[in-house]
Amino acid sequence: MEKIYGIIGDPVAHSLSPVMHNAAFEKLGMDAIYLAFRVSPEEVGDAIRGAKSLGISGLNVTIPLKEKALFFVDAEEVAKRIGAINTIDFSSGTPVGYNTDGIGSLRVLKETTGEIKDKNVLILGAGGAAKAISFYLDVEGARVTIANRTKERAARLASNLHNADFSGLGLELEKRIEASDILINATSVGMHPNEDATLVSADMMHPDLVVFDIVYNPMETKLLKEAKRAGVKKIVDGVKMLVYQGAASFKIWTKKEPPIETMEKAVRAALNRD
Ligand code: NAP
Repeated sequence: MEKIYGIIGDPVAHSLSPVMHNAAFEKLGMDAIYLAFRVSPEEVGDAIRGAKSLGISGLNVTIPLKEKALFFVDAEEVAKRIGAINTIDFSSGTPVGYNTDGIGSLRVLKETTGEIKDKNVLILGAGGAAKAISFYLDVEGARVTIANRTKERAARLASNLHNADFSGLGLELEKRIEASDILINATSVGMHPNEDATLVSADMMHPDLVVFDIVYNPMETKLLKEAKRAGVKKIVDGVKMLVYQGAASFKIWTKKEPPIETMEKAVRAALNRD
């Protein structure tokens, strides 16, 4: 019988997850389909209980449901500490929640820079994605600084990590970047339709900085263009993180090795069509 997977969120119509997972199912010859379901925050509990009753095999959870969904699943320890889930597996009968966003970003960074331990990492943002990323980097032994527009949120997030500092944006950012090995944009700044926006310009960067923008629409954000202009050698867009978090969900649900290249190709093709 065909297995059903999907993503719940609002808005969800433009999610790239259906394209990515359906390409993977096709590549592996699996009898499965992945759909997008628009669900409001008020209905998230009903949606999860309903999905279980209907025999849905697995769900991704996206904005604005990641935190609230945690209350309706049996969440793994890491997801509980992050305070949000993006994946639900129904295979054991009970909905089990995971957070694969952090796993995706860590895999990207390890591929780009190798060892993360003792690296100075500056994360712009203190929202859901910044939380998941910083948690995994902290566990790896990186020295993390959280820089956020709302400084109190940066302070709160840093206080939950072992080896972290915090700052606001603006002037103090320049000194922080100078002392950093890796810069990650985990804010929505630069995302379509505000494609000309960036929190960091070329004159603030040095060539040995690794610049990673988790925003994937557009694939080459203004921040990444500025990094190129500054002669930065290692530049990473947000597509790989999207693919790796999706691949981690895929493996949790199906226990199969995800066809990463097929998934990435499908996402990049969809973004190029936009
Ligand atoms: P979120 O929880 O809403 O957090 C948004 C963050 O952006 C906050 O830190 C917010 O600062 C900051 N921000 C928003 N507008 C700003 C502005 N004009 N100037 C300065 N800071 C601003 O969102 P999220 O879930 O963390 O997602 C953030 C971005 O990451 C989104 O673009 C999302 O698409 C992307 N993302 C990508 C992946 C991937 O796999 N590549 C995964 C997850 C998310 P305040 O605290 O001051 O409001």
